[in-house]
Amino acid sequence: MKCVICKTGEVQPDTVQAEIKAGCDRLLVTVEAEVCRECGEAYYSSEALRLLERVRDDFSRKVIAPPSVGKVYQIPMDR
Ligand SMILES: [Zn+2]
Repeated sequence: MKCVICKTGEVQPDTVQAEIKAGCDRLLVTVEAEVCRECGEAYYSSEALRLLERVRDDFSRKVIAPPSVGKVYQIPMDR
């Protein structure tokens, strides 16, 4: 399959870290996806998208409490 974004790259199965937002937090979820060799665009299967939805839900309802790998710092404007 050809990538629909850059229209030149071949799309191949790969493992990627999908980044999803849950309020102010972001979750990195390792999932299988089809990834473009040229531009890196990832295409998720409906199965993977369902998984991401479930992870976001579970995280929001505190069913899961994954370890944090970093913090987000906000710098005020008057600096
Ligand atoms: Zn592409």
